[in-house]
Amino acid sequence: MATQKPLVGVYPGTFDPITKGHLDIIRRATRMTDRLVIGVAVNAGKGPLFSVDERVAMVRAQVDEHLASVADSIAVEPFSHLLMDFVCDMGATLIVRGLRAVSDFEYEFQMAGMNAYLNAHVETVFLMASDRYQLIASRLVKEIAKHGGDVSAFVPPAVAEALKTRYGMGRQRPPAGEPNGD
Ligand code: ADP
Repeated sequence: MATQKPLVGVYPGTFDPITKGHLDIIRRATRMTDRLVIGVAVNAGKGPLFSVDERVAMVRAQVDEHLASVADSIAVEPFSHLLMDFVCDMGATLIVRGLRAVSDFEYEFQMAGMNAYLNAHVETVFLMASDRYQLIASRLVKEIAKHGGDVSAFVPPAVAEALKTRYGMGRQRPPAGEPNGD
């Protein structure tokens, strides 16, 4: 009897930064795959807050910390070329995307259709995060963090810290009497 080839999936995204919603999708995706590659898109067009190297390192660290039992079956790789080429390079036959509200649907529907046209041997599957994580979006997390709001419900602690530092909120206030640059 022929042995089954391991099922490799790619979960592509910008992950700027990784949220609890992403982690929930990653956890679910590992239940459906033998190996999962998280593809971190360079995505310069979106003007990411964190560099691709920072995002890859953040995703790796969060996966190792929060999904330790499956971390060995997860790879985190940057990519800047066509998603379908990346998927083939990784030996994957499955693309995993997350769906939040109806608003995600049209874009995801179009992308899945185009990707099916590019390579009919690769399927796209959509997963939903559990309801407490469904409304989380990296864009809104950044907006809240930028204004000094508390994002701890949406991202892991290390990511909340990285956001604070990036927005200059993590610095010590200068001693009384010194100008603070505000
Ligand atoms: P992209 O720029 O490709 O949209 P994102 O990092 O924003 O990259 O999202 C990557 C994938 O994760 C997308 O399929 C997106 O719909 C999904 N996703 C992001 N946040 C959530 C969430 N809270 N619940 C479910 N899916 C999510």
